[in-house]
Amino acid sequence: MGTGDKMEIRGQRQSGAKKAYVCMDCGGLRIKPEEHDLQFQYGVGADQVTLTATGVIEHVCQDCGGAFRDHTAELRQYDAVCRHLGLMTPAEVKKVRESVKMTRSEFAKASGIGEASLARWESGALMQNIAMNNFLYLLSYQVNLDRLAARSSKEPLKLIESSGARHASFPNLTGPEFESANSRKDKFTLRFVAA
Ligand SMILES: [Zn+2]
Repeated sequence: MGTGDKMEIRGQRQSGAKKAYVCMDCGGLRIKPEEHDLQFQYGVGADQVTLTATGVIEHVCQDCGGAFRDHTAELRQYDAVCRHLGLMTPAEVKKVRESVKMTRSEFAKASGIGEASLARWESGALMQNIAMNNFLYLLSYQVNLDRLAARSSKEPLKLIESSGARHASFPNLTGPEFESANSRKDKFTLRFVAA
């Protein structure tokens, strides 16, 4: 069970023909897809965990009981790993882009994310990192795309508070030992300096 060489797809090369499996053990044609949860190990050593992939399809020969999983098992396992790592699944990444009604190339241009990276994340060839995952989450809100579009690339970044120097206060320091420090607080300033 679970090996890929027990059955072959027959008829897939004939145009218009429906895909059909034939059992390579007994030649049986009565192959029925069954949906299962699949448990698997992920990680190494102390970090190893047991994950569950849901909706894994297993093709079972009704004549001899032989069974195999097709490539969708791998995709469901990939989804389970993404969830475990707190990342969007490939389908969810695609959904973000579709929710703002953009093609891959439009979304790439609007966000600055490489189109090839997007394609890899959406197909499950590569996982986005946490920072990109967070960025994608923000991009699922149209208002953030609008902000990016409205910002001229020639305009320098504007700081919300750009006075250059601000008084620091110490509201959490109380008691006699801090009174003198607090009394001097007007003399303290925070200044932005060039690194
Ligand atoms: Zn069979």
